Amino acid sequence: MSAGAPQTRHLRCDALLQRSGWMSPAYVVLDGQGLIIDVSAAAAPAASSWEDVPGYVIPGFQNAHSHAFQYLMAGLAEHRPNNASGDDFWAWRDAMYRCALQLRPEQMQAVATMAYAEMVRHGYTAVAEFHYLHHDEHGVPYSDPAEMSRRLMAAAEAAGIHLTLLPVLYQKGGFTTAPSPKQRRFIHGSVDDYLDLLVLAERAAGHAQDVQVGRGIHSLRAVAAAEILQVLGQPFNGPAHIHVAEQIGEVEQCLKATGMRPVDWLLTHLPLDQRFSLIHATHMDQLEIKNLAASNATVVVAPSTEANLGDGLFSLREYWQLGGRFAIGSDSQVTLSPIEELRWLDYGQRLRSKKRQILTAQPGDEYGTEVFTSAWTRGRLAMGQSADDFFSIGTAFDAVVLDPEHPAIYGKSANSRLSALIYAGSSDCLLGTIRRGHWLAKHGRHLGQAAIRREYQQAIDTIRSQAQS
Ligand SMILES: [Zn+2]
Repeated sequence: MSAGAPQTRHLRCDALLQRSGWMSPAYVVLDGQGLIIDVSAAAAPAASSWEDVPGYVIPGFQNAHSHAFQYLMAGLAEHRPNNASGDDFWAWRDAMYRCALQLRPEQMQAVATMAYAEMVRHGYTAVAEFHYLHHDEHGVPYSDPAEMSRRLMAAAEAAGIHLTLLPVLYQKGGFTTAPSPKQRRFIHGSVDDYLDLLVLAERAAGHAQDVQVGRGIHSLRAVAAAEILQVLGQPFNGPAHIHVAEQIGEVEQCLKATGMRPVDWLLTHLPLDQRFSLIHATHMDQLEIKNLAASNATVVVAPSTEANLGDGLFSLREYWQLGGRFAIGSDSQVTLSPIEELRWLDYGQRLRSKKRQILTAQPGDEYGTEVFTSAWTRGRLAMGQSADDFFSIGTAFDAVVLDPEHPAIYGKSANSRLSALIYAGSSDCLLGTIRRGHWLAKHGRHLGQAAIRREYQQAIDTIRSQAQS
């Protein structure tokens, strides 16, 4: 080995979560890149020194749907707007457009870095960024059309999170309407322009260890059928994401424009399989639920955002019973805690069904284990990553460590640890977050927090003074 080459490392975890249960203690060997070489209940005799990971180690949470820039407006849209129809998704969307028009590239980077660092602090180790803020304030492509994509990559690198960047094709204001001037930063005039951006984004990602690029279609209302088929109807690799059926109004518009409901349209026209993530899918009829569950596509549910925007409840119970599986996303960033997302997801279903067991099949099955496992497994697929096992050989050692001393965790049986975390705990229960074998956050602080906050605060102050001038 040459001088200075990264060394193999040996970690001793008090307990490590496997699909089959907890391994305690667990000995993990990593290569110099933080990839797992070995996981064993017995220490390798050759190892000279073991680094202690003192706590209960679970795989890092996967955030399968994010618009990083919306972190800027989280909490700012909680007042009644001055319009005749009151406050709903569409009024919120107008506020979001105003927010999107303000951001310059350096501000995008600072806001995204802050959002990603907060995700890491709360236990996410990977994010799928659904990215449509492509052009400058006038709607003109930057001299490098991938400028904003590069900013998001730099933000993810600074925060230490894995990034699956999904550049998004966005062309229209509605099924039959041209884009409004407020959407000018999002719009690609042609699919060729969009495909060029994909090539540039892939080039920018280069050989970066922790960035990969997939495809995004904003929605059926924002992209015409022929263009959707051009991007997703042809063979392609990697993950593909699309917003669908978030609002009843959108379902009605789709029926009027195409004669089909949105999820039905996707099932009929696209080769849906595990590469595909459908974001929201809130409003489906029984046949759509059945066929979508059978397609092996993932539904990404964003419970806190869907609650905040008054979207409605995803039909999780029915979808799950038919074999459908889900991931979670922070979407509009009203919370960056995966624990809160999972709790909201389950509680919404319990309130609607007046039952407690939503996902479990057998007596004794743990609710926390089921929601965690689906969100992780399908989150990995939404990232375009393997999802064979927790901490499988060849994958990066990305983990969240639970604090055994925290009163919400202490003394709980091993089987109930995830339930204790999700239903009775909070981010306070985390000792920290690890990526590629290195701590990124510890005791409630991101290790780069001081500089990241300073740059974020400067960006916010500049945006505020721009707005006042
Ligand atoms: Zn979204």
